[in-house]
Amino acid sequence: MANPLFIDRETPAGASLSPQEYALEQGGAMCPVCERTDMLEGGSIEVDGIHCWSTIVCLACETTWDDVYTLNYYDNLELQIDDVD
Ligand SMILES: [Zn+2]
Repeated sequence: MANPLFIDRETPAGASLSPQEYALEQGGAMCPVCERTDMLEGGSIEVDGIHCWSTIVCLACETTWDDVYTLNYYDNLELQIDDVD
């Protein structure tokens, strides 16, 4: 199964960062159009299976987009039963 991080997505018209540059080089937190980092506002996290996303708005240029995350693993497993076969 392909790592969704490396699915090639086209850079939308008007954007200065491609979706890959935004995620892998910037780690998000930058408007992909005007490249401001200080005027971003995120909405609540929505979850669907292994993906979740949050709609971000850049208050400087009024662009909106979704930051999309993918489940990698579970962690901090704490069993509540003594007998596990
Ligand atoms: Zn912007």
